[in-house]
Amino acid sequence: MSVILSEGNSIFSQLSSFGHQKVVFCSDPETGLRAIIAIHDTTLGPSLGGTRMWAYKTEAEALHDVLRLSRGMTYKASITGLNLGGGKAVIIGDSRNDKSEALMRRYGKFIKNLNGSFITAEDVGTTPRDMEYIRMETEHVTGVPESLGGSGDPSPVTAKGVFMGIKACVKEVYGTDSLAGRTVAVQGIGNVGENLVQLLRQENAKVYISDINEDRLRSVAKKFGAEAVANNSIYDLDVDIYAPCALGATVNSETIEKLKCAIIAGAANNQLADETIHGQLLLEKGIIYAPDYLINAGGLINCYSEIAGFNKNRTMQLAENIYEATRNVLKKSKNENIPTHEAANKIAEQRIADIRRIKATY
Ligand code: NAD
Repeated sequence: MSVILSEGNSIFSQLSSFGHQKVVFCSDPETGLRAIIAIHDTTLGPSLGGTRMWAYKTEAEALHDVLRLSRGMTYKASITGLNLGGGKAVIIGDSRNDKSEALMRRYGKFIKNLNGSFITAEDVGTTPRDMEYIRMETEHVTGVPESLGGSGDPSPVTAKGVFMGIKACVKEVYGTDSLAGRTVAVQGIGNVGENLVQLLRQENAKVYISDINEDRLRSVAKKFGAEAVANNSIYDLDVDIYAPCALGATVNSETIEKLKCAIIAGAANNQLADETIHGQLLLEKGIIYAPDYLINAGGLINCYSEIAGFNKNRTMQLAENIYEATRNVLKKSKNENIPTHEAANKIAEQRIADIRRIKATY
C-alpha cells in the first residue's frame, strides 16, 4: 500500500522523531482492511493500546495519529507504574459503514502475527463486539465483555483514578486531602463523570455539574445531591477544582482567563489545547494541573488487570496508586518550576531509562 506523505516528511524521519520500534501496515483488499499498528516502546512490557477506527482524510493523517497516540501510551503506562509498553492501531474507514466481522477477524490475524508484542483494546469507533471478533483470532486483546471473562466497563476505575488525582492536588494546595467542604465543578457527567460525582459526594464535597444532556444532568443532580448548572457558565464558577470529564481542549487561552479554580483535574483526554502554551500559562497563574494522561489511566489499569488476572479489588488498588504518582509529579513540577505535564513526562522517561539499564544487565 502507498503512504502519501507531505513533502520532506518521510516515514522514517517520522519514526525516528517519535522513537518508534516498529510500525506494521495491514492491508486486505478482500475485506477492505487498511490498518496501521504502531509499536512505540516495549521496554516495560508488551505494547498495549486501543484500536481506533476513523475515516481519516489521508493516509498521512492516519499515520501521524497512530504514531502520536502510541507514543502517548508509552508515557501513560510508564508513569502509572505498569509493566506495559506503548502501542496503538488505527483502521482507516467509517466505523458505521465499513466494518464487518471478516474485516475485524482479518485484523485480529495481523495482531496474532505480532506474537504478543501488541495487545489491543476498544477505542473510538470500535466496540466490545469488535473485540470479541478479534478474540476469535488472537488472545492478544483486552477489554472484552465481562460475560466473556473480560474486565468490563473501565469507567468506575477511571473515576477512582481521577478522584485520587484530585485528592493529591488538594493535599498540595490545602495541606490536607480531605474533600469535605471543597467545591468541585464536574463538566460532563457521562460514564466517568457520574462515578466521580458519587465519590466526591461521598466525601461531602460540594459538587456542581454540567452536561449537554439535560435529562441526564437533572437525574444525576437528584441522585447525588449535586447542583446542576448551565453548560456555558461552568468556567465562571468560583470553585476550588475544575474537573473536565467531557471533551478535550477545554483548557485554552479563553477559559484560563475565566477560571477561578486552584486545581484542574479531570478525566478528559488532551485537556490543554496547546500543552506548551497552556501548561506554562497555568504554572504562571498558580493553577495546579493534574496531567490528564496520568489521572485518567484507570482504563489502561483495567486492561492491565484483565491480562494479569487481577480481581476488582486489586484493580482499584492500582488506581489508588495514582495518588502517589500525582504527588510525585507535583513535587517535581514545584522543585524544577516546570509545568506538571513536563514533570510527568520526565518521570515516565526516567522509569523507562532505568528499566532499560537493568534489562541490559540480565
Ligand atoms: P461519556 O461519553 O460517557 O460521557 C461524556 C459526557 O460528556 C456525556 O454525558 C456528554 O453528554 C457530555 N458532553 C459532551 N459534550 C459536552 C459539552 N460540550 N459540555 C458538557 N458536557 C458534554 O464518556 P466517558 O467514558 O465518561 O469519558 C469522559 C472523558 O474521559 C472522555 O474525554 C474520555 O475520552 C475520557 N476517558 C474516559 C475513560 C473511560 O474509562 N471511560 C478513560 C480515559 C479517558
